[in-house]
Amino acid sequence: MLLAISFVAISQLSKVPAAWHILLAEALPVVSVAIALLLSIQFNRSRYSFLLVFLAIAGLSQTKFKGLMPTTEDLLFVGLFLNSFIFSFLKDRSLMSIHGVFRSGFLLIQGFAIWNYALMLPDPIIDWLNSDLLSIPASLLIYRQLPDGIVIFALISSFILMVLTIVRNSSIRATFFGCQLGLLGISSGYPDSALVPFLVMGCSLMVILAILIESHDMAYRDELTRLPSRRALNQALLSLGRRYTIAMLDIDHFKIFNDKHGHDIGDEVLKMVASKIAHITGGGKPYRYGGEEFTIVFPGKSKQQVESHLESLREVIEAYQMVIRQSDRKIDNAPDKKNRGRRGKNDPKYQTLSVTISIGYAVRTIDDKVPEDVIKAADQALYRAKKQGRNCIRG
Ligand code: GH3
Ligand code: MG
Ligand code: MG
Repeated sequence: MLLAISFVAISQLSKVPAAWHILLAEALPVVSVAIALLLSIQFNRSRYSFLLVFLAIAGLSQTKFKGLMPTTEDLLFVGLFLNSFIFSFLKDRSLMSIHGVFRSGFLLIQGFAIWNYALMLPDPIIDWLNSDLLSIPASLLIYRQLPDGIVIFALISSFILMVLTIVRNSSIRATFFGCQLGLLGISSGYPDSALVPFLVMGCSLMVILAILIESHDMAYRDELTRLPSRRALNQALLSLGRRYTIAMLDIDHFKIFNDKHGHDIGDEVLKMVASKIAHITGGGKPYRYGGEEFTIVFPGKSKQQVESHLESLREVIEAYQMVIRQSDRKIDNAPDKKNRGRRGKNDPKYQTLSVTISIGYAVRTIDDKVPEDVIKAADQALYRAKKQGRNCIRG
């Protein structure tokens, strides 16, 4: 969307007084890249720092430093596309660490080589760079294009990033995908000179947004289970109305489970339980309260209205069988596959595990007016559920 907005903005540029053009085309891209860069450094998102440097280099090569030798420019964009693709798969290691220094050095050497030796490339490589792989009719080539090989690589790598964005629902991949499209736009040689600064601005806004969204996620979402965290719960409690029910959930005998099967499998079970809790029906909002305890808030609901939903959740978790492989103790978290039962029952290498949960819930009353009181009452109900044999709900 930001790239599309950049395009629309250019078409509207003629309506802006000419005196503003310098500000829009020169100052704002620099300011937006600088802000994005500072944010990425402050938040330790080194992948974004590098991505911004790639964008800035691409932008400068098409504006201030326009007029590079064609081969140098082609190779520069090969480097930018290739590195932005590779960097999207790295980890965010600090720029000041040995990894950061190594990565920067790796890029500087590439830059040095492209700058000094691009024109000394052997003929076959230059021929390949200039070969006509896509057979685009000359009438369509209204402006200078990158060689077909580079465009094909850029399109394939963007496509891979797009697929990863969708499959993994990953914000960082989405940002790299958007910025690769931005790089393609920057490198396209589009005749309107305003395109490049606007695309650079669009891409740096993308990075700023991504950092803000990802930081919000880090603060308000639990890393292991991906459920909203305790902090999100505390905030939600402040906005509750006069009627609501709160349920506290706790996995039964989880300490024994952990001791028997190990912490890693314990973590997998927590994720499984959380994924079931995430699908709670009846308008409940789930949170990870801490450890193996979860909270579900039902705004506007009475005890009677939530009871059946909590009972079905308890049943779903009780019935769920996780398959683990004995040899390497790996979890095969696919209970619905056809062959799970066969593997689970007949193959001695596989073992099925299940856990149960106890639930206590309470409604806001005259006595329990504030959410903290309701949580306390739900906790007492949970304690009764534990006392009365676990794997049950009490309200
Ligand atoms: P009860 O049925 O009474 O709730 O027994 P319990 O063993 O579940 O209760 P207790 O509170 O004594 O133990 C909770 C255990 O949960 C202790 C800890 O090992 C485990 N646990 C808490 N957080 C995590 C986590 O993030 N990962 C894993 N694997 N285990 C956790
Ligand atoms: Mg507990
Ligand atoms: Mg427990």
